[in-house]
Amino acid sequence: MYDINKVREDFPILGREVYGKPLVYLDNGATTQKPRMVVDAMVDEYYSVNANVHRGVHFLSQQATELHEGSRETVRRFINARSTNEVIFTRGTTESINLLAFSFGEEFMSEGDEVIVSTMEHHSNIVPWQLLAARKGIAIKVIPMNDQGELLLDEYEKLFSERTKLVSVTHVSNVLGTVNPVKQMIATAHEHGVPVLVDGAQGVPHAAVDVQDLDADFYAFSGHKVYGPTGVGVLYGKEEWLDRLPPYQGGGEMIQTVTFEKTTFNELPFKFEAGTPDYIATTALARALDYVTALGMDNIAAHEHDLTQYAMMRLKEIPNMRLIGEAEHKSSVVSFLVGDIHHFDMGTLLDRLGIAVRTGHHCAQPLMQRLGIEGTVRASFGLYNTRDEVDILVAGVERVSRMF
Ligand code: PLP
Repeated sequence: MYDINKVREDFPILGREVYGKPLVYLDNGATTQKPRMVVDAMVDEYYSVNANVHRGVHFLSQQATELHEGSRETVRRFINARSTNEVIFTRGTTESINLLAFSFGEEFMSEGDEVIVSTMEHHSNIVPWQLLAARKGIAIKVIPMNDQGELLLDEYEKLFSERTKLVSVTHVSNVLGTVNPVKQMIATAHEHGVPVLVDGAQGVPHAAVDVQDLDADFYAFSGHKVYGPTGVGVLYGKEEWLDRLPPYQGGGEMIQTVTFEKTTFNELPFKFEAGTPDYIATTALARALDYVTALGMDNIAAHEHDLTQYAMMRLKEIPNMRLIGEAEHKSSVVSFLVGDIHHFDMGTLLDRLGIAVRTGHHCAQPLMQRLGIEGTVRASFGLYNTRDEVDILVAGVERVSRMF
């Protein structure tokens, strides 16, 4: 059973007030709040285990290493990777994509080669490819979308050429909430012999992800968006691909032997993990994944689906409401504009009512250009939000709208 009151008790921050009003936190797309057990895991490890991992013979180092490598196994299980060799710890989705753009680009792309992305990408899945384009002269092709915010799969098919080397597409849009049919898109890419990177920053927190079922070649996500700590994320990659990619950064941990003439690299996954990892954060990430697993990803998805449907229905009651992103398959993100009220004004006034939403371009300026707008107000729901909070949001938006 999904006991929302009990769930909320796990998140101390939800009990606080802002401007004398109870906090209504609807900015989960940007980052999620942390359950007590996640923060406790960090404090406990600092107080009772802390030592650098992998290199020490002493007790604490071995215990820290066990925790860190145990966390890798937790991530493996959570996304159903075949092996922990396929789980690389990074600082987050952004670093995961940059890692892949660099390493894949180095090894497999040259001038005139192409990468396919979509109209609804976050900047972190656009700019790394532009950096690669500047370095190597590759081209970026863009999958268009319809006005509901769904990718045009026929057009996607047409983008493939013999120069296509990679598809890099978001699982879920952080602006529109669209859940892209990535399994189908991966199958299409594979028919053309092209591997796929999925940006799962907004996918992993909201529904069960099985990388083997998707047949994703690479999958990236951030810990802080799935109730874990900041500063840690994951790049999943099929072992056969990771084996063939060169390292991204050099340093400790990623080497086997070093002389001034030549260095040999460590095995997977350490080849891609130069330097001291944030082992405190990996422990806490594993506790966050344990937490959502115990609640049940299907229960979380159902709860958030209910909230999203309810929010869309209620917001539509407001005069001059424009919902942005009405894809058939939609995750728990609701973007909107009311009349010609500036998104920033709406967000600022809602904040005074204790309601935390995000405003602006949401790091997706090309998508804003496609929509012909500068920005939106975005409410994004997490596992602890309630229908009552949706009602507070709707009342707040109505109140602000009347003021204008
Ligand atoms: N991709 C998507 C779809 C996102 O929503 C975000 C963050 O909002 C990112 C990538 C970047 O994530 P991070 O800043 O955690 O690296």
